[in-house]
Amino acid sequence: MIKPLYSADCMSQNQGRNSYNKDGKVEFELVVKTIVESGWLNIAQKCPSPNFNQRPEDEISLLVIHNISLPPKQYGGAFVEDFFCNRLNANAHPYFAEICHLEVSSHLFIRRDGSIVQFVPFNQRAWHAGVSYYGGRDNCNDFSIGIEMEGCDDEAYSEAQYNSLQLATQAIMLAYPQISSDRITGHEFISPKRKTDPGRAFHWQRLFSSIKPKDSDLSS
Ligand SMILES: [Zn+2]
Repeated sequence: MIKPLYSADCMSQNQGRNSYNKDGKVEFELVVKTIVESGWLNIAQKCPSPNFNQRPEDEISLLVIHNISLPPKQYGGAFVEDFFCNRLNANAHPYFAEICHLEVSSHLFIRRDGSIVQFVPFNQRAWHAGVSYYGGRDNCNDFSIGIEMEGCDDEAYSEAQYNSLQLATQAIMLAYPQISSDRITGHEFISPKRKTDPGRAFHWQRLFSSIKPKDSDLSS
């Protein structure tokens, strides 16, 4: 079971408590239905970011995995949430002064303990990929969903993170059928000379083997 953490800023926004049945299991069908209806993952802590805009077309056909940790390689603070909501304190760490002016976001952020934060509804365009290229098209933000794993390129991600990623991915694939398992990629592959995340520590097989194929995947 995923136990969301509640930070003071986001607690009032949380909707996740409605998504567990009496056994503490996630009501998966309700999770998918809520995504389709609202663009929000109801097991995530909602932490709305101002860094989004409308997708130029309504297409949602790619899932991009990233990593982030702030400060780099330090886990557990609220700095990623602060960064994606344009309130990172430039004085809190020397690195923050370099990045605090950036206006970026992702749809989801999965912490080391497996708790999930959502910044932007999936039907809106989050600002996670930057200059990028996939399948003959650039500007992957236009048609992708971005998931940030709390971590770095060379340190193993946690079991809890993979479990949450699997759950979120499976729900997203059902809500947005254009995201087939061959349209899940990493930032390092769509922005190759510029980005290295989620890096060699990310266990792609762990993700792909945990995703149930859809009928459309089996027939193709
Ligand atoms: Zn990235």
